[in-house]
Amino acid sequence: MGLLSLGTPLAWDDAKRYAEHVREHGITQFLHIWDRMKDREGDELLWGDEIEYMVVSFDDTENNAKLSLRQTEILRKLASIVDGISSGLGDEVAVPTFHPEYGRYMLESTPGAPYTGSIQDVLSVENNMRYRRNLARKHLNAREIPMTFTSFPRLGVPGVFTEPHFDPSDAVSSHSLFLPEEITNPHARFPTLTANIRRRRGSKVAMNLPLFIDEHTPRPFVDPTIPWQRSRYSEDPEAKNGAALLDHIYMDAMGFGMGCCCLQLTFQSCNVKEARRMYDAMVPLAPIMLALTASSPLWRGYIADVDCRWNVIAGAVDDRTEEERGLKSLRENEKLIPKSRYDSVSLYISEDWINRPEYNDVLAPINEKVLQRLQDHGIDEALAKHISHLFIRDPLVIFSEMIDLDDTQSNDHFENIQSTNWQTVRFKPPPVNSAIGWRVEFRSMEVQLTDFENAAFAVFFVLLTRAILHFSLNLYVPISRVDENMQRAQKRDAVHSQHFYFRKNVFPLSASGSPVSPVLSGGVFPMEDVSNGINGHAHTKDKELKNCYPKMPQPDADIELEPVEEEYEEMTVNEIMNGKGVDFPGLLGLVYAYLETLDIDEKSRNKIEEYLSLIRGRSNGSLQTAATWIRNFVRNHSQYKYDSVVSQEINYDLMRSVDEIERGIRKAPGLLPESFVGSHHARVSLTSDS
Ligand code: ADP
Ligand code: MG
Ligand code: MG
Ligand code: MG
Ligand code: MG
Ligand code: MG
Repeated sequence: MGLLSLGTPLAWDDAKRYAEHVREHGITQFLHIWDRMKDREGDELLWGDEIEYMVVSFDDTENNAKLSLRQTEILRKLASIVDGISSGLGDEVAVPTFHPEYGRYMLESTPGAPYTGSIQDVLSVENNMRYRRNLARKHLNAREIPMTFTSFPRLGVPGVFTEPHFDPSDAVSSHSLFLPEEITNPHARFPTLTANIRRRRGSKVAMNLPLFIDEHTPRPFVDPTIPWQRSRYSEDPEAKNGAALLDHIYMDAMGFGMGCCCLQLTFQSCNVKEARRMYDAMVPLAPIMLALTASSPLWRGYIADVDCRWNVIAGAVDDRTEEERGLKSLRENEKLIPKSRYDSVSLYISEDWINRPEYNDVLAPINEKVLQRLQDHGIDEALAKHISHLFIRDPLVIFSEMIDLDDTQSNDHFENIQSTNWQTVRFKPPPVNSAIGWRVEFRSMEVQLTDFENAAFAVFFVLLTRAILHFSLNLYVPISRVDENMQRAQKRDAVHSQHFYFRKNVFPLSASGSPVSPVLSGGVFPMEDVSNGINGHAHTKDKELKNCYPKMPQPDADIELEPVEEEYEEMTVNEIMNGKGVDFPGLLGLVYAYLETLDIDEKSRNKIEEYLSLIRGRSNGSLQTAATWIRNFVRNHSQYKYDSVVSQEINYDLMRSVDEIERGIRKAPGLLPESFVGSHHARVSLTSDS
């Protein structure tokens, strides 16, 4: 989650009176940052991950795996441990940080300091992640385990799924039929966010995931676990009045989405221009990486026919009114808003010529007043539109102590809007008064069950970002196609069942207008081309991953571009990752080509190969996604009745097994490579070499 200010939060009726104030000062704050930072140059590659955990409490008498609600105590304990370690270690080792998250059973951890581009740092990621997990694990009570599980399979079932148990009848913020108030982090920000989304929207949120229909699933499926007749809150009849769909898993609260765990990566760029190029490149990658990291097939005690969390979170914070959603005719000063504030990116923002206007082909409403102000200040149209698109939203949480701020010294109002626009990619301006530069955050990936996998995705992705800059890659497809890909990515077994719109030729154009393809048949780069640099400039091998690449090569002025529709086609994930035909080497092929430009010793190269081999396995089908593995686990369980139900016992065994796999005392062939070493065997400290 974003910033955690302290103070007295305003209820929606009060908060909305300050909405315009927050937007106006938010833009003033952004303009101060812009004026100070727009010409900032030469920031090095710094990057880092965020990993979210759910703390699971095992009850071995009842055979129940529950969510532990001890977040406050756990975070307090971890903070004091971390303080103790850092005072003992000196300045050169940065101890990890643990952060609160929406769910009262969740933790988030980040490395104590961002990684650099040195090979040693890149190869320290797994160790760093394992260290963080172990640190958390060591300081929980004996029954609790921090697990990197994207969606808790039995969140919101009748009966006991938290420790301690709370009844859902008194969920004053969400009015949920399923989740108790106590599921939410008690910090004022979170209950207020929950309640204000409901109030602004005018009803509870409503998510419906298609149910995975198995041999003995009753049809039509009318969910017996929904308290259809409850009349505690005024929203209770929504379920029977159409909010809950037949043959679906219905969810009615923010916690179902924001209670999910994910893996995010943030990268610092050389300057604002490179950050904008990177942002755009990540947009079409978001659905592909979502499909590859899919790991959430189980929801509210059922197997879903989807593998990912995305639509659930998008729905879980969808504060749009019926008018904004297009269900009723608009009143004065209202706009149709096609997407939730948690959704995929709607606008590309790079100033590079390869960003053709045709790619921005979805309706992305903007705040005209904000647009005008930004353009009057000299900000170009693409960036001005991006910011004014974010600023169509209302601030949801306003603290009464934080209304009048010094706009030259604070970015709180800007961040209030920015950090509650939860899109697949986030463009992060530098904070006020800090040494941090322009950053971009990649946000679509689901968290993996082990840190080997989380590290593999992080390392693959940082290498891919460098390949994008090094080869001046062009990954643009129209946003409408990216949006379609986001939906396909969530389908069951999308890696195998779906095709995705992807660019046929990702290489820059030569002066004559034809693509400069450094590829020979078989999708392999000829080494001479790579080491000579493909843009014609000679290239010596780099010792580390870097920022600050040359400008995007320019085409001739009179070049004629292909129609946009000719630029892309539908590909499988295997083709996107491992290559298609002679023109496209695949994202892995590009990463390998980039690795050829680096001066790396053999041991490091072999370690990187382990990570890339996991990614290749996941994309070519020789390894399963976590979602497929989890779904199969449930369906193969001796107590499964082929009725789509994930019972308490099955969930308990699943959680136990995942923990054993993570520790390396149980094998998971099909999910992990033979060579996988669990945390039980790994030597883990922050200072050890990798
Ligand atoms: P968020 O606002 O998304 O919650 P967090 O603070 O949780 O962000 O995580 C930010 C990530 O960015 C961390 O992994 C951190 O190590 C990394 N990071 C910190 N400083 C920089 C920087 N200057 N450039 C890039 N990444 C950074
Ligand atoms: Mg988080
Ligand atoms: Mg955060
Ligand atoms: Mg964070
Ligand atoms: Mg983040
Ligand atoms: Mg574990």
